[in-house]
Amino acid sequence: MNVIGLIGGMSWESSAEYYRILNQGVRDRKGPTVSARCLLWSFDFSEIEALQNQGDWDTLTFKMTQAAKALESGGADVLLICTNTMHRMADDIQAAIGIPLLHIADSTAEKIQESGITTIGLLGTAFTMEQTFYKNRLVEKYGLNVLTPDENDRAEVHRIIYEELVSGITTEESRKIYRDVIARLIERGAQGIILGCTEIMLLVKIEDSTVPLFDTTTIHAQAAVKLALEDSSRE
Ligand code: GLU
Repeated sequence: MNVIGLIGGMSWESSAEYYRILNQGVRDRKGPTVSARCLLWSFDFSEIEALQNQGDWDTLTFKMTQAAKALESGGADVLLICTNTMHRMADDIQAAIGIPLLHIADSTAEKIQESGITTIGLLGTAFTMEQTFYKNRLVEKYGLNVLTPDENDRAEVHRIIYEELVSGITTEESRKIYRDVIARLIERGAQGIILGCTEIMLLVKIEDSTVPLFDTTTIHAQAAVKLALEDSSRE
Protein backbone atom coordinates (compact mmCIF):
# COMPACT_ATOMS: atom_id res chain seq x y z
CA MET A 1 0.00 0.00 0.00
CA ASN A 2 1.30 3.44 -0.90
CA VAL A 3 1.60 6.24 1.64
CA ILE A 4 -0.90 9.07 1.17
CA GLY A 5 0.42 12.52 2.07
CA LEU A 6 -2.24 15.00 3.12
CA ILE A 7 -1.94 18.77 3.35
CA GLY A 8 -4.76 19.54 5.71
CA GLY A 9 -5.96 21.69 8.55
CA MET A 10 -7.92 23.82 6.08
CA SER A 11 -9.95 23.24 8.05
CA TRP A 12 -9.30 20.31 10.36
CA GLU A 13 -13.05 19.66 10.34
CA SER A 14 -12.72 18.42 6.76
CA SER A 15 -9.29 16.84 7.27
CA ALA A 16 -10.90 14.61 9.90
CA GLU A 17 -13.40 13.52 7.23
CA TYR A 18 -10.55 12.71 4.84
CA TYR A 19 -8.89 10.60 7.53
CA ARG A 20 -12.13 8.73 8.21
CA ILE A 21 -12.96 8.14 4.53
CA LEU A 22 -9.42 6.98 3.66
CA ASN A 23 -9.35 4.48 6.49
CA GLN A 24 -12.91 3.30 5.85
CA GLY A 25 -12.12 2.86 2.14
CA VAL A 26 -9.01 0.79 2.82
CA ARG A 27 -10.88 -1.31 5.38
CA ASP A 28 -13.75 -1.97 2.94
CA ARG A 29 -11.36 -3.15 0.25
CA LYS A 30 -8.70 -4.93 2.26
CA GLY A 31 -10.22 -6.22 5.50
CA PRO A 32 -11.38 -5.19 8.96
CA THR A 33 -8.02 -4.41 10.55
CA VAL A 34 -6.32 -2.93 7.49
CA SER A 35 -5.94 0.86 7.65
CA ALA A 36 -4.55 3.58 5.42
CA ARG A 37 -0.89 4.52 5.46
CA CYS A 38 -0.86 8.29 5.66
CA LEU A 39 1.06 11.34 6.69
CA LEU A 40 -0.72 14.56 7.60
CA TRP A 41 0.65 18.08 7.51
CA SER A 42 -1.93 20.15 9.36
CA PHE A 43 -1.82 23.94 9.09
CA ASP A 44 -3.09 26.43 11.64
CA PHE A 45 -6.05 27.62 9.57
CA SER A 46 -6.15 31.08 11.14
CA GLU A 47 -2.80 31.84 9.45
CA ILE A 48 -4.03 30.54 6.10
CA GLU A 49 -7.31 32.46 6.29
CA ALA A 50 -5.50 35.72 7.12
CA LEU A 51 -3.18 35.35 4.12
CA GLN A 52 -6.14 34.50 1.85
CA ASN A 53 -7.93 37.66 2.98
CA GLN A 54 -4.80 39.73 2.33
CA GLY A 55 -4.59 38.20 -1.15
CA ASP A 56 -1.04 37.05 -0.34
CA TRP A 57 -1.08 34.03 -2.61
CA ASP A 58 2.72 34.09 -2.99
CA THR A 59 3.26 33.40 0.71
CA LEU A 60 0.54 30.79 0.62
CA THR A 61 2.19 29.10 -2.35
CA PHE A 62 5.50 29.07 -0.46
CA LYS A 63 3.90 27.54 2.64
CA MET A 64 2.01 24.93 0.65
CA THR A 65 5.09 23.97 -1.34
CA GLN A 66 7.15 23.60 1.86
CA ALA A 67 4.46 21.34 3.31
CA ALA A 68 4.38 19.23 0.15
CA LYS A 69 8.16 18.82 0.20
CA ALA A 70 8.10 17.84 3.87
CA LEU A 71 5.51 15.15 3.14
CA GLU A 72 7.53 13.89 0.20
CA SER A 73 10.70 13.63 2.25
CA GLY A 74 8.73 12.00 5.05
CA GLY A 75 7.81 9.17 2.71
CA ALA A 76 4.57 10.10 0.98
CA ASP A 77 4.04 8.43 -2.40
CA VAL A 78 1.08 10.55 -3.48
CA LEU A 79 -0.10 13.99 -2.37
CA LEU A 80 -3.57 15.30 -1.56
CA ILE A 81 -4.47 18.92 -0.82
CA CYS A 82 -7.52 18.62 1.44
CA THR A 83 -9.19 21.82 0.25
CA ASN A 84 -10.51 23.02 -3.09
CA THR A 85 -9.43 26.63 -2.59
CA MET A 86 -5.79 25.79 -2.03
CA HIS A 87 -5.64 24.02 -5.39
CA ARG A 88 -5.10 27.55 -6.69
CA MET A 89 -1.36 26.79 -6.49
CA ALA A 90 -1.58 23.08 -7.41
CA ASP A 91 0.57 23.46 -10.52
CA ASP A 92 3.34 25.22 -8.57
CA ILE A 93 3.27 22.51 -5.93
CA GLN A 94 3.37 19.72 -8.48
CA ALA A 95 6.36 21.35 -10.17
CA ALA A 96 8.26 21.39 -6.86
CA ILE A 97 7.87 17.72 -5.95
CA GLY A 98 8.57 14.35 -7.52
CA ILE A 99 5.42 12.53 -6.37
CA PRO A 100 2.01 12.85 -8.06
CA LEU A 101 -0.53 15.35 -6.76
CA LEU A 102 -4.04 13.99 -7.07
CA HIS A 103 -6.05 17.07 -8.12
CA ILE A 104 -9.45 17.39 -6.47
CA ALA A 105 -11.07 18.92 -9.56
CA ASP A 106 -9.83 16.06 -11.75
CA SER A 107 -11.23 13.38 -9.45
CA THR A 108 -14.54 15.26 -9.29
CA ALA A 109 -14.77 15.97 -13.02
CA GLU A 110 -14.14 12.30 -13.81
CA LYS A 111 -17.13 11.35 -11.63
CA ILE A 112 -19.29 13.99 -13.32
CA GLN A 113 -18.30 12.73 -16.75
CA GLU A 114 -19.11 9.14 -15.73
CA SER A 115 -22.61 10.31 -14.78
CA GLY A 116 -23.18 11.88 -18.21
CA ILE A 117 -23.84 15.33 -16.72
CA THR A 118 -22.61 18.28 -18.77
CA THR A 119 -23.93 21.35 -16.92
CA ILE A 120 -22.83 21.57 -13.32
CA GLY A 121 -23.37 24.06 -10.50
CA LEU A 122 -20.35 24.97 -8.38
CA LEU A 123 -20.50 25.88 -4.68
CA GLY A 124 -17.35 26.78 -2.77
CA THR A 125 -15.45 29.69 -1.32
CA ALA A 126 -15.54 32.99 -3.22
CA PHE A 127 -11.99 32.17 -4.35
CA THR A 128 -13.11 28.89 -5.89
CA MET A 129 -16.33 30.25 -7.40
CA GLU A 130 -14.93 33.54 -8.71
CA GLN A 131 -11.30 32.95 -9.68
CA THR A 132 -10.41 30.99 -12.80
CA PHE A 133 -8.13 28.24 -11.44
CA TYR A 134 -10.93 25.77 -10.66
CA LYS A 135 -13.66 26.61 -13.17
CA ASN A 136 -11.27 26.75 -16.11
CA ARG A 137 -9.95 23.30 -15.36
CA LEU A 138 -13.50 21.90 -15.45
CA VAL A 139 -14.30 23.76 -18.65
CA GLU A 140 -11.06 23.36 -20.57
CA LYS A 141 -9.98 19.88 -19.53
CA TYR A 142 -13.41 18.24 -19.20
CA GLY A 143 -15.72 20.32 -21.42
CA LEU A 144 -18.20 20.98 -18.60
CA ASN A 145 -20.54 23.99 -18.48
CA VAL A 146 -20.05 25.49 -15.03
CA LEU A 147 -22.69 27.63 -13.32
CA THR A 148 -21.93 29.63 -10.19
CA PRO A 149 -24.52 31.31 -7.92
CA ASP A 150 -25.31 35.01 -8.34
CA GLU A 151 -23.37 37.58 -6.31
CA ASN A 152 -25.57 37.58 -3.19
CA ASP A 153 -25.74 33.81 -3.09
CA ARG A 154 -21.97 33.52 -3.53
CA ALA A 155 -21.45 35.88 -0.59
CA GLU A 156 -23.74 33.81 1.62
CA VAL A 157 -22.16 30.49 0.60
CA HIS A 158 -18.71 31.95 1.35
CA ARG A 159 -19.77 33.52 4.66
CA ILE A 160 -21.25 30.29 5.97
CA ILE A 161 -18.04 28.40 5.15
CA TYR A 162 -15.75 30.81 6.99
CA GLU A 163 -18.05 31.84 9.86
CA GLU A 164 -19.52 28.43 10.59
CA LEU A 165 -18.37 25.30 8.75
CA VAL A 166 -14.62 25.62 9.35
CA SER A 167 -15.46 25.85 13.07
CA GLY A 168 -17.68 22.78 12.93
CA ILE A 169 -20.92 24.76 13.24
CA THR A 170 -23.87 23.49 11.22
CA THR A 171 -27.32 25.06 11.58
CA GLU A 172 -30.69 24.40 10.00
CA GLU A 173 -30.82 28.05 8.93
CA SER A 174 -27.61 27.77 6.91
CA ARG A 175 -28.69 24.45 5.49
CA LYS A 176 -31.87 26.12 4.21
CA ILE A 177 -29.81 28.91 2.62
CA TYR A 178 -27.70 26.31 0.79
CA ARG A 179 -30.81 24.39 -0.24
CA ASP A 180 -32.26 27.56 -1.80
CA VAL A 181 -29.00 28.41 -3.58
CA ILE A 182 -28.92 24.89 -5.00
CA ALA A 183 -32.55 25.19 -6.15
CA ARG A 184 -31.75 28.43 -8.01
CA LEU A 185 -28.79 26.77 -9.76
CA ILE A 186 -31.06 23.90 -10.81
CA GLU A 187 -33.61 26.40 -12.17
CA ARG A 188 -30.81 27.86 -14.31
CA GLY A 189 -30.02 24.43 -15.76
CA ALA A 190 -27.61 22.72 -13.38
CA GLN A 191 -27.94 18.93 -13.75
CA GLY A 192 -25.72 18.32 -10.74
CA ILE A 193 -23.97 20.32 -7.99
CA ILE A 194 -20.32 20.25 -6.97
CA LEU A 195 -19.86 20.65 -3.21
CA GLY A 196 -16.60 22.39 -4.06
CA CYS A 197 -15.47 23.17 -0.55
CA THR A 198 -14.43 20.29 1.63
CA GLU A 199 -16.64 21.34 4.57
CA ILE A 200 -19.94 21.66 2.67
CA MET A 201 -20.58 17.93 3.05
CA LEU A 202 -20.86 18.53 6.79
CA LEU A 203 -23.97 20.66 6.14
CA VAL A 204 -25.60 19.66 2.87
CA LYS A 205 -27.04 16.18 2.44
CA ILE A 206 -28.42 14.25 -0.50
CA GLU A 207 -32.01 15.23 0.37
CA ASP A 208 -31.15 18.93 -0.01
CA SER A 209 -31.02 18.65 -3.79
CA THR A 210 -33.18 17.22 -6.55
CA VAL A 211 -30.09 16.63 -8.72
CA PRO A 212 -26.96 14.60 -7.90
CA LEU A 213 -24.42 16.12 -5.50
CA PHE A 214 -20.70 15.70 -6.13
CA ASP A 215 -19.05 15.86 -2.71
CA THR A 216 -15.42 16.70 -3.38
CA THR A 217 -14.20 15.46 0.02
CA THR A 218 -15.55 11.95 -0.46
CA ILE A 219 -14.70 11.74 -4.16
CA HIS A 220 -11.12 12.94 -3.60
CA ALA A 221 -10.45 10.65 -0.61
CA GLN A 222 -11.95 7.63 -2.38
CA ALA A 223 -9.83 8.32 -5.48
CA ALA A 224 -6.77 8.38 -3.23
CA VAL A 225 -7.67 5.00 -1.74
CA LYS A 226 -7.92 3.55 -5.23
CA LEU A 227 -4.60 5.03 -6.25
CA ALA A 228 -2.80 3.99 -3.06
CA LEU A 229 -3.98 0.39 -3.36
CA GLU A 230 -3.84 -0.11 -7.11
CA ASP A 231 -0.68 1.79 -8.08
CA SER A 232 1.28 0.60 -5.11
CA SER A 233 5.02 0.58 -5.46
CA ARG A 234 5.36 -0.47 -1.82
CA GLU A 235 4.48 -3.72 -0.13
N1 GLU B 1 -11.95 23.67 2.83
C1 GLU B 1 -12.35 24.73 2.00
C2 GLU B 1 -12.23 24.40 0.53
O1 GLU B 1 -12.34 23.26 0.18
C3 GLU B 1 -12.12 26.12 2.40
C4 GLU B 1 -11.03 26.44 3.35
C5 GLU B 1 -9.84 26.95 2.62
O2 GLU B 1 -9.83 28.11 2.30
O3 GLU B 1 -8.95 26.19 2.33
O4 GLU B 1 -12.08 25.25 -0.31
